[in-house]
Amino acid sequence: MRFSDPRLEPIWEKVRASERLSPENGLTLFETPDLLGLGRMADHAKTRREGERVYFVINRHITPTNVCVLSCAFCDFARKKGQAGAYEHTIEDMVGMVRAEVREVHIVGGHHPDWPFEYYERVIGAIRAAHPGVQIKAFTAAEIDYFWRRWKIEPREALTRLKAAGLQSMPGGGAEIFSPRLAKLLRYNTKAAPERWCEIHGIAHALGIRTNATMLYGHVETLAERVEHLIRLREQQDASGGFLTFVPLAYQTGTTKLVPRQTPPTDSLRTIAVSRLLLDNFPHVEAYWVVIGEETTSVALHFGADDVNGTLEDERIQHMAGAQTPAGLAREQLLRMIRDAGKQPVERDALYNVVQVWN
Ligand code: SF4
Repeated sequence: MRFSDPRLEPIWEKVRASERLSPENGLTLFETPDLLGLGRMADHAKTRREGERVYFVINRHITPTNVCVLSCAFCDFARKKGQAGAYEHTIEDMVGMVRAEVREVHIVGGHHPDWPFEYYERVIGAIRAAHPGVQIKAFTAAEIDYFWRRWKIEPREALTRLKAAGLQSMPGGGAEIFSPRLAKLLRYNTKAAPERWCEIHGIAHALGIRTNATMLYGHVETLAERVEHLIRLREQQDASGGFLTFVPLAYQTGTTKLVPRQTPPTDSLRTIAVSRLLLDNFPHVEAYWVVIGEETTSVALHFGADDVNGTLEDERIQHMAGAQTPAGLAREQLLRMIRDAGKQPVERDALYNVVQVWN
């Protein structure tokens, strides 16, 4: 492989030898002008793991409520109780949202001021009872931490009870980006700190609950802060081993406008590629099509991503923040997105069991 940036050559030697990259390597990869060289290295790392396979899942996002006690500066979604646009779904509403063909439900919502922990247990139990075949991925580490802050239920107890009710895995949100500077600046220092977020994922892994991890990028963070975030996730994976997928989340400007416009596709491609190369112990890196769009997602499948997520009807959080991609993309469209990239679509369930390999 030839590179226009000679700084990539020693990194490529490490990648070829499956050696771990350093934080300094990570920063070089974020800074290099040789985007295509970076992409080829990430594609090599992805292909070595998964060949031409790219995964998708038919899933349904449920956001029980947008009522939230917090006011994170990047969030267009949250409302205060009684404010215009605030909503609270009933358990019956939520059970009714899950259609027969759905394999995974993904449940994330606001930090509600009054709903007791038992309500969340009942939500999981009711979906499990009505749809025994569906896999339930629910509650970020920030929400699990909030159950402690609000109701004094320790994360181990909360996760044990939720697992007994039917929860099988956890999404990766709530971490935003592990930086005390940004947590203060963007007003998310009142939710789970990095140590707490990692602790809760470690507890989940010990209980046999697989989890994801995310990073909110493309706002006012520095490249060094992105690298620190990724290295911290890598360390946690070394310690507890239960992460399945890393999902980089591009900040949506919506009405919060921390920056004038969404970060460009080249930055999303770069972030996905660097993530694939630094997170050598994560099985999967996702191109989240709802946020970055179909076209960028197709290209990202050549930049280290091996997953495009799912159908995501009613993906309220991203859409209220102004994501342009229409919700409810059907399986045919997911297949097209993957085939357009020249890759092999593989339909999966929440735990990456193969449902069907498509031609
Ligand atoms: S990001 Fe989550 S915790 Fe923060 S205000 Fe929005 S809903 Fe609440």
